[in-house]
Amino acid sequence: MDPRPRILDTAFPRQCCSCGTEISHPSENGLCWDCRSATHSLTPPWCEQCGMPIAGRVDHSFRCARCEETRPAYTLARSLYRYEGGIRDAIHALKYHRDFSVIPDLARLFAAGILTHVPDAAAAQLVPVPLHPRKLRKRGFNQSHELAKAICLLVPGAAIWPHLRRVKDTETQTHLSASARRRNVQGAFRAARTPAPESVILIDDVMTTGSTVDACARALHQTGSRHISVLTLARG
Ligand SMILES: [Zn+2]
Ligand SMILES: [Zn+2]
Repeated sequence: MDPRPRILDTAFPRQCCSCGTEISHPSENGLCWDCRSATHSLTPPWCEQCGMPIAGRVDHSFRCARCEETRPAYTLARSLYRYEGGIRDAIHALKYHRDFSVIPDLARLFAAGILTHVPDAAAAQLVPVPLHPRKLRKRGFNQSHELAKAICLLVPGAAIWPHLRRVKDTETQTHLSASARRRNVQGAFRAARTPAPESVILIDDVMTTGSTVDACARALHQTGSRHISVLTLARG
């Protein structure tokens, strides 16, 4: 799962997973700088809890209607980019084409996001959103776990808490409504070791309605976590 040795670059030049341009700069791996910078990063104003951005100018902090209704168990959730363009292509390349060359690029974005959005990040342990064992066997790797491992190489003191389990093999969430998603993942996660760390950062690639990370947060909260931040690369 490690990025490939540089010596291969001469014989087989790397290409950007999004635009196909040949990559030559050592700070780029599978996603070129142009594609990275062309993707819209998310900025406030946003819901102070789930991080869902809204258009226009808002001068006070607010909580969105969905958070008021569902009361997520996490303290805050933030996503770095809209799920589009180069970021979406990179996530697809990783998940569906096993292109691990994008991992260092994505991990760098995550590391910067942790320092920007997570208060007291140094005290927190990283918890990748787990796959069900059946899905893990099928895919061969968990993209969130691979990203968390790469983040640990970049953030001093960062460590993974690998004991959150997915105990329910849920159907795909893609075509479900927000309330159906919530029911679908209810009770799907369990902490296999207790107590869970007091302070955690849940790591995932994409957040849509937030039902999956909320189900994770509930399992962690039930077993001891009190400061639960969620950081995802993209918001779908
Ligand atoms: Zn590109
Ligand atoms: Zn919200």
